Amino acid sequence: MIKGSHHTKRTIDKMSIAKKGYKYPPGRVGWNKGGNTYRKGLTLEQEYGVEKAKEIREKLIKSHLGNSGYWEGKHFSEKHIRNNSEARKGLIPWNKELTVETDERVKQNIEASTKTIREQYKNGKKSPRLGFKATEETRRRNSEANKGEKHWNWKNGITPLHQAIRNLAIYNLWRKAIFYKNQWTCQDCGHKNRNINAHHLYPFSKLLEDYNIISLGQAIRTEELWDTNNGVTLCKECHNELKNGRPINITGGG
Ligand SMILES: [Zn+2]
Repeated sequence: MIKGSHHTKRTIDKMSIAKKGYKYPPGRVGWNKGGNTYRKGLTLEQEYGVEKAKEIREKLIKSHLGNSGYWEGKHFSEKHIRNNSEARKGLIPWNKELTVETDERVKQNIEASTKTIREQYKNGKKSPRLGFKATEETRRRNSEANKGEKHWNWKNGITPLHQAIRNLAIYNLWRKAIFYKNQWTCQDCGHKNRNINAHHLYPFSKLLEDYNIISLGQAIRTEELWDTNNGVTLCKECHNELKNGRPINITGGG
């Protein structure tokens, strides 16, 4: 056995003999031989030059514009999320009206759940919550701990809609276009190869307000949100400093 390998020496010999003798059938080429850009591993920039690539990337974004597909007509707002949990209350669960006597699944479920609880406590183990009462102090401490960015649902202080938009394919295209435009170089400190962010010159949340965006479909259809002139790359450090109020000296905004 060769160190760090999962094949024996004999298998490796056999594989390399097999490889040497192997010819693709006529008319077929290896998956990585020739073929399209993707297979050759070239970027759009390498294939078409920077100017043409920029044009192609903007066209890509445009092709996503208005193509909201699944999200069309779906309203995604905080109100919607709240309503969703309200709506669930009216749903009839699958096991309603079924009893242990009439349904095998109900019987199995109950048996499975009581068994584990029984097993857990069969040695006289007491529930840790038994007889425990949260004091005012604990309650206060918990509510402090859950505030703002410490809360489990905290997403950089942005709304659920904003967060959902950031997960859209078109958002990713926009981000990529900015990276290429500025060549992964921080437009403030000039560092390359640092953790890089695509930063909105005019805040994205303000754009959402300005254009009254309340659904993903609307976001996808609103061209102004996807203007690549509204973005620059910033390294994580500079981006954080900007968030903390340091003015930045952006050179590549155009
Ligand atoms: Zn920087």
